[in-house]
Amino acid sequence: MRILVTNDDGIEAPGLDVLQQIASELSEDVWVVAPETDQSGAAHSLTLHEPLRLRQLSERTYAVKGTPTDCVIMCVRHILHDQTPDLVLSGVNAGHNIADDVTYSGTIAGAIEGTLLGIPSIALSQAVNYDKRGEVHWQTPMAHGPALVRKLIGTGWPADIMLNLNFPDCEPDAVTGIEVTAQGKRDQDYLRIVDRTDARGKPYYWLGFNRQLSEPEKGTDLWALRNGAISVTPLYLNLTHVETCRKLMLDLGGETV
Ligand code: MN
Repeated sequence: MRILVTNDDGIEAPGLDVLQQIASELSEDVWVVAPETDQSGAAHSLTLHEPLRLRQLSERTYAVKGTPTDCVIMCVRHILHDQTPDLVLSGVNAGHNIADDVTYSGTIAGAIEGTLLGIPSIALSQAVNYDKRGEVHWQTPMAHGPALVRKLIGTGWPADIMLNLNFPDCEPDAVTGIEVTAQGKRDQDYLRIVDRTDARGKPYYWLGFNRQLSEPEKGTDLWALRNGAISVTPLYLNLTHVETCRKLMLDLGGETV
């Protein structure tokens, strides 16, 4: 089995080493193609206005000056040519990718691109409590990741679906189980603008994140992580909401545009 490992935290990120180790427990044929710099929040973007610089670090490790999506395309279409990977693993991200994070996440985008190229793909993220800085429980995906990924490959999943895995912010032994979940929804005031002033008195801004306030709905990714479980969410790449589609067809059916 040929595995492509990518991420959005960049080629230097500790989570990339963790995922490389997870992958090497599943196969000896592991390729790493990751962004030169941190691409968190890059979503499923392509680099179209700059050249894509490719830097080879070892026989099977490359850095791309681009996004996670660029990395997957670079690997499949250029580095490996016709020897397509059998599995794309993206992560392990430092910080969860759940609920509203899904459409912002570069980690998930790496797996989306793999799926679009016809390769089974999994995104992996490790929840981090940012109040306790520097303490990332990398042992948790290390301990639980290989068996879980192996089990998922054995089970299989449809071609237009990707799997989004999130590990809870706790020690491996404290993990309460594995929950198959739905994408959750955060309170609406989650994202905010942090207003600052620079040394010359001019205003500048950062995007800030408020804490989750309310109790998450049972069966969601938010709920699983809050309860110390590993969350497995199958995500469908076709964003059409079928029920609303049907209703609109009925409601607008008589109209001619
Ligand atoms: Mn990231």
